Amino acid sequence: MDADVIILGAGASGLAAARLLTRRGYAVTLIEARERIGGRLLTVRPAGVAIPIEMGATFVHGCPSGMMELVRAAGMTLCELNGQTLMRVNGQWLGGDEDGAGEAEEEHGEEADEYRVERNPILAAILRWQGPDLTLDDFIATQGGGPEWEAAIPWTRGYAAGYDAADPATVSVRWIAQTERATAIDGSRQFFPLEGYDRLAAWLLGACDPARLTLRLGVVASRVEWAPGKVTVHLRSAEGAPLAPVSAARAIVTLPIGVLAAPAGEPGAVQFDPFPAELAGALSGVAMGHAARVTLRLRERFWDAGAGGRFHYPRLSFLLSGHPVMPTWWTSYPLLVPLLTGWTGGPAAQRLTASADEEIIAAATGALADIVGFSREDMAALVEEGYVHNWSRDPYARGAYCYVTVGGLEKLAPLTEPIADTLYFAGEGTDMDGNTGTVHAALATGERAARQIAR
Ligand SMILES: Cc1cc2nc3c(=O)[nH]c(=O)nc-3n(C[C@H](O)[C@H](O)[C@H](O)COP(=O)(O)OP(=O)(O)OC[C@H]3O[C@@H](n4cnc5c(N)ncnc54)[C@H](O)[C@@H]3O)c2cc1C
Repeated sequence: MDADVIILGAGASGLAAARLLTRRGYAVTLIEARERIGGRLLTVRPAGVAIPIEMGATFVHGCPSGMMELVRAAGMTLCELNGQTLMRVNGQWLGGDEDGAGEAEEEHGEEADEYRVERNPILAAILRWQGPDLTLDDFIATQGGGPEWEAAIPWTRGYAAGYDAADPATVSVRWIAQTERATAIDGSRQFFPLEGYDRLAAWLLGACDPARLTLRLGVVASRVEWAPGKVTVHLRSAEGAPLAPVSAARAIVTLPIGVLAAPAGEPGAVQFDPFPAELAGALSGVAMGHAARVTLRLRERFWDAGAGGRFHYPRLSFLLSGHPVMPTWWTSYPLLVPLLTGWTGGPAAQRLTASADEEIIAAATGALADIVGFSREDMAALVEEGYVHNWSRDPYARGAYCYVTVGGLEKLAPLTEPIADTLYFAGEGTDMDGNTGTVHAALATGERAARQIAR
């Protein structure tokens, strides 16, 4: 045996598991396909940009206690997004006056509240729902009704697609209720790590016992052969050259659900021999969602006195609209830097991510122009550079993050238990606490698997 435990994937989940196990005396071999750690934590620092730019995870959602402890231990600085949220509803801006200041803004803020999650009649009905699990689209079609219900439909579908990266035609309402309850417990405040999210990955690696960790970067797992008490992982280089296999008594698999669902022969795909029934069940209950995220570096912060004051919201944090291509945007407020990040999720993102990066950036620029009412030429002239990472086309992610499909919670549950005390599954897609799709779910599930072994 080469180690006590093999961990597949050095994202947040695999690193959290490696930290816990090596500190408890287990020899760990950590296998990572990319030439870097962090997985979907990917921070870039382009020359001339004052702050790091995230390509993957961006926010710390709420104040989840385990995450906050790690953030403190890693010495990371969290910046709260505490500016103004503007919503484009029926051609009007809600949530701010043209000066972006004063009492009028607060009044408009009240108005925008009508569209907030807590006041949404469909989400309220989902939270009360005791019946069988349904997809969001079926729930909307068969429950409730009336003008308030009808008015809430586009926002609710947009929320599921945008926030959860989910397809409203398949996502489970029981799971939506679970995620809403988790958000209510942990708070709805949003923070971003000032020094970059990749600091968390670097800190986790640094916190492993180096004497007990073998980290292998640029090494792709292609086949997991297992029997109770022994796992052999077949490996190849990123270029496809076969490498010597590694074996251990146990393995923790933290690979993204998109990778686990990839057909054999696809780059990054892993075969299991035998294929665990628990994995087959889970793959029919959880799906990889799609998202497109574009950061634009602009010549000026046009929302603060720039562009002739045509769009003046100096304290802007979020712009929410129903734009079909890229509806959601955010600034780095309270940091006054000329960056705007656009976001779309769900089926619209799946379509957009079929395009080349330059086309995604151009589409995002056009959407931003439409939303703020500039000509597309004027907006293009304001953009200096666009940054995007296409996670849907990335063979080691195959999507952005997971959501649970109708009836999926029961199908997923067996995958969260040890399989013959030999195989353990972790990663954001294996969360059972309503935090699927987050960094804190990745960390917590990695620690769950490590504790199952160290118990
Ligand atoms: C655009 C985007 C925005 C997001 N925004 C947020 C946010 O604001 N807040 C938040 O909390 N979360 C956010 N998330 C989700 C968050 O990034 C993930 O939930 C989390 O990082 C997943 O960690 P993980 O360890 O489960 O998986 P990963 O980070 O994907 O780690 C799995 C690792 O396995 C490796 N791997 C894959 N295939 C193989 C193979 N065959 N052999 C060996 N290694 C392999 C991968 O390279 C990767 O390093 C976002 C994600 C994306 C994509």
